[in-house]
Amino acid sequence: MTTEAPGRVVDLLVRHARLVATMDAGRREIDGGWVAISDGRVTDLGGALDAPPAARRTIDAEGCLVTPGLINTHHHLFQNFTRAWPEMTSQTLFPWMSACFPVWERLDEEAAYLSAWVGLAEMALSGCTASTDMLYFHVQDRGDLVAATIRAAGEVGMRFHPSRASISTCGSTGGDLLPRSIVLDPDHILAECERLVKTFHQTGPGAMVQVAFGPSMTFMVGADTTRQMVELAERLDVRMHTHVAESAGDDEFCLQEFGHTDFEHFEHVGLCTDRTWVAHCVRPKPHEIDRLVAAGVAVAHCPSSNCMLGSGIAPVADLRAAGVPVGLGVDGSSSNDSGSLWLESRQALLLGKLRDGPASVDARSVLEMATRGGAACLGRAGELGELSIGSAADLAIWDLRGVTWASGGFEDPIEAWLRCGPAGARDTIVAGIVIVAGGELANTALDSVTTQHRKVGTHMFEQSGRARR
Ligand code: ZN
Repeated sequence: MTTEAPGRVVDLLVRHARLVATMDAGRREIDGGWVAISDGRVTDLGGALDAPPAARRTIDAEGCLVTPGLINTHHHLFQNFTRAWPEMTSQTLFPWMSACFPVWERLDEEAAYLSAWVGLAEMALSGCTASTDMLYFHVQDRGDLVAATIRAAGEVGMRFHPSRASISTCGSTGGDLLPRSIVLDPDHILAECERLVKTFHQTGPGAMVQVAFGPSMTFMVGADTTRQMVELAERLDVRMHTHVAESAGDDEFCLQEFGHTDFEHFEHVGLCTDRTWVAHCVRPKPHEIDRLVAAGVAVAHCPSSNCMLGSGIAPVADLRAAGVPVGLGVDGSSSNDSGSLWLESRQALLLGKLRDGPASVDARSVLEMATRGGAACLGRAGELGELSIGSAADLAIWDLRGVTWASGGFEDPIEAWLRCGPAGARDTIVAGIVIVAGGELANTALDSVTTQHRKVGTHMFEQSGRARR
């Protein structure tokens, strides 16, 4: 079946795929498939026996798996500057933060722009077509950092969901945890959230930038201000993002400060709504999972970061079985420290099997998290995370030929994709535009941006007085 008018020429045709994994409502998989694209949207799909429309441009996907572009639901792009830094590589969450803060405190517009550019390029090379970024290191009068990251996303070509994370208090017992420079006035924070939405947030299908906001952690904004923030999100019709139940330290802090756990505080301040997606959720109790389901909260699963910081293994099978939408997130570049969503997908597969047995998770369920689950986190189910008529033309093309797939003859390209590697997409397409071709970023500024990133990072270390090897 085709929706194209006879003789209409589409913008782009991806054809001859080994398999198109549509991840649509019926999880249709099309052998020898093709995908037709016009005006940034999928206009038609077909198989080997269906005649495709004529196209102004054709990409041959012979021997390739075609999937919806992967969606990254949790990141802190600015953390690129402290990757693999010896002072933090053996720490749990709170000491890890304290080790990195003096360097991050130097963040300015240029640093935010460069780290976002580099980080989003890395994401694109791993088949990611839409990413969030939770930026919580805002020092007064240091410029418009979120705007700088949005500019970078536009240059890379990534669909971008920046989340303006906020810190207005560290509580009576958290004075040693946070530098005073990032604890900002609540009224200023609320005004900034509204300004960013009004300046950058796009609505409707095809939006390339959508702004979210929320407390960085549930206890880092006062209860009254958080409730005002929730009301603001309702009024502006945008989503909220925060961390919940990541480490044992979160609960200890909240119990000491408020007399209840991190999850209970999340509910207490009004964040437990269907506007919210939360990062981690490593240690929810069974009744808390029920409350997530009832409220319609989505979860960003970040398995590599949870391993690196020793936080634990999230009960993903339980969350999904209960009906919680679960997406994947690489988390920050200093607690993973990779920004590859393919690697994160494989990590989710491995940890899921380790935690709940080899039959508890397979490549298809992980691909579902990385696509449809991610779209649910970002509030864009039905538009992103699937290839269907009218969906966004966000695709990843994975070459299944070569030594890593050497086999007597694999029957299942989706399992092979996640079990065999390698990590990179051959082509990544966002809104019908090719941003990665043949494993290379289309924007040729990558080398110069990476060089400048290194220079600025070195300067940040010098300014902070921290040693760098
Ligand atoms: Zn995080």
